[in-house]
Amino acid sequence: MKRIALEVNHLSYTFPDGTEALKDISLSVKEGEKVMIIGPNGAGKSTLLLNFNGILRGKGEVKIFGEPVTRKNLKKIRSRVGLVFQNPEDQLFMPKVVDDVAFGLFGRGVNREEIEDRVKKVLKELGLESLAEKAIHQLSLGEKKKVSLATVLVLEPDILILDEPTSGLDPGCRRWVINYLKKSDRTTVVATHDLDLAWQVGETMIIMDRGEIVARGRKEEILGNKDLLEPHGLEVPLLYLLERFSP
Ligand code: ADP
Repeated sequence: MKRIALEVNHLSYTFPDGTEALKDISLSVKEGEKVMIIGPNGAGKSTLLLNFNGILRGKGEVKIFGEPVTRKNLKKIRSRVGLVFQNPEDQLFMPKVVDDVAFGLFGRGVNREEIEDRVKKVLKELGLESLAEKAIHQLSLGEKKKVSLATVLVLEPDILILDEPTSGLDPGCRRWVINYLKKSDRTTVVATHDLDLAWQVGETMIIMDRGEIVARGRKEEILGNKDLLEPHGLEVPLLYLLERFSP
């Protein structure tokens, strides 16, 4: 039996201006599972992800491998739950790529030699060695998104959380992200409205709209169901149709 990696029980979140962004959300993600949270803009996807590692803390419970996220254990929780923001400007703040990738390892009791090794290893794994000495501001959006992923993977999180990993990317970079996520065997949660990505990467789909979970199920059940998707501004992904109806 696989362990439950992430569990959310009756989570609600209201922003200080009164916007109810999450309303009584409950879900669970098994170890090794890849879950796609899909839904229109403003559905509450980003707010939900920010609750997974305690950046936001709503009413209700979030548990990581059985341990509730509290104010006291945030450091430990964040070492297990790696969050890649939609906008790399929120993730990257050092002048140079190597320094940004190394940054999270400082203050974790990792010695300098090991930091260098781990940074090199993750840059190699992602095929980013040639960017190591570059200044962040010289990178393209696609490169910045890849480096953002590296800053999280270097910490070897048990759960990888990504917010709109393909938004704004050209087809080549988008394919790179999809291939990476397909190959990875890490527990992964992705919030996206790129349903072709969801189809290729995910096993389980959760549809969110207006702060609520409106449907969840296996990818075929959800992504092949026009009547379920359309009321929430979503469409059956082209790749589903191609695979299903090509001779
Ligand atoms: P999604 O990621 O699905 O596009 P968000 O989680 O960003 O949705 O937003 C959910 C709701 O919360 C939206 O109505 C949005 O306008 C609102 N919201 C997001 N951030 C804030 C904030 N800082 N203050 C007030 N409302 C916010």
